[in-house]
Amino acid sequence: MTKQDSSSSTTASVARWTVHVEARLQQRAAARFDSIRKHVHTYMNSLERISLPAKLQGWQDVPELASSVDQITICESRCPLNVLSVSDALLQIHVYQPSDSDTFEEFSSGGPGDGEDETMAATVCELPNSNWEGLWDSLIYGDDVKMKLLDYIHATFTLSDANVDFNLISWNRVVLLHGPPGTGKTSLCRALAQKLSIRLSHRFSSARLMEINAHSLFSKWFSESGKLVQRLFSSINELIEEEDTFVVVLIDEVESLTAARAGAVAGTEPSDGLRVVNALLTQLDKLRHKKNVLVMSTSNLVKAIDCAFLDRADIVQYIDLPGREAIYDILRTCLNEVMIKGVVPAIPLPTLKQVQMYERSHETTSDDIFQISLDTRKRTKNIGLRLLNLGDKCRTQGMSGRSLRRLPVLALARFIGLGLSSMPASGSDGLDADSGAPQVE
Ligand code: ADP
Repeated sequence: MTKQDSSSSTTASVARWTVHVEARLQQRAAARFDSIRKHVHTYMNSLERISLPAKLQGWQDVPELASSVDQITICESRCPLNVLSVSDALLQIHVYQPSDSDTFEEFSSGGPGDGEDETMAATVCELPNSNWEGLWDSLIYGDDVKMKLLDYIHATFTLSDANVDFNLISWNRVVLLHGPPGTGKTSLCRALAQKLSIRLSHRFSSARLMEINAHSLFSKWFSESGKLVQRLFSSINELIEEEDTFVVVLIDEVESLTAARAGAVAGTEPSDGLRVVNALLTQLDKLRHKKNVLVMSTSNLVKAIDCAFLDRADIVQYIDLPGREAIYDILRTCLNEVMIKGVVPAIPLPTLKQVQMYERSHETTSDDIFQISLDTRKRTKNIGLRLLNLGDKCRTQGMSGRSLRRLPVLALARFIGLGLSSMPASGSDGLDADSGAPQVE
């Protein structure tokens, strides 16, 4: 993540950029992590330069990799360059095999004996998990919130490893993400848990994600909630007793804690509510000395969060609605997906930098951005600018990432609804004459 000094005793020190590389094994491949790591290393060292970030290509020609690996990704890094010479990279190669098992433990709350009122209060799943593959990369933010979270984890491990005195420097291993609904907070927590399980695999041989829905926990049966909190934390404690298991606890909708406490104080909720909140905070405090646990929490209403909880968070990060640039990239990834899957004919889409250049220059700029004909280049530019324009409209309407990811479905439904089977190929809402598929424009 940072530029590091890789000095040796005999050579002058050379500063190199840390670059994380993730190699995903095929589901049924024998998990020969060490040997695959060596092959990836050798392959990468045979390259002159690498793009940052990128899906690595060409490794399929190495038989040992082709038979076991299904994807190699060069992750985003702190290096400001788009292309880096391999000799300037300090490669950190992580080999992993995501589990395809779904949730394997569930805790429910509800009226005693009342099956219909049962709501799921918590679930546990194994990490890395195929359900969360690709999630990290799909989340797009204008600022570097994702790197910031990784840096925080890096810092906590550095301090833990150095055995710093907890009385002098202390942290709680609690992170709170807050902001409007649909801005990807819960997804970011899951994606970070997945990322950490991959990046920390040299320290921890296994990892788990426990998701607690605070709203279900506190919604009704407080007397039941008390027992549930005890059960949840005894199961978290069981998990973290295994020191080589990394555990991420995700508490969603954490503002429900406050509602329970406020209700108890006002006398509108049973005082059990207050006891349950206090029990939960006490249990959280006990986790802070454990090296193998991280508590992530989310809220749509930071003002409504219990002060005692807020005070425990090391990072309180606001996740805003996406800005113009993030919207462009979200829409661009949506469009790319429908093109890759053949729903609409493919055409190169300009990157954000390229479209901003078009916008500034009002003309088709450098000719070598795409190795394509003048006509395609014009269409590419046109689509990029229209997408940027659409992004402006979405931003004015305050659309969340969740709504943006729904747009292609609505656009396609509208298109189908118009019954445009005989539109000319170049029409603004047209169909491709040959394929019968809708055009991007
Ligand atoms: P929240 O917890 O803030 O309500 P979610 O994590 O439930 O939001 O987000 C739902 C979905 O919306 C995500 O899985 C993702 O597909 C999409 N989404 C939200 N924010 C973004 C973003 N910044 N970039 C890309 N996709 C996003």
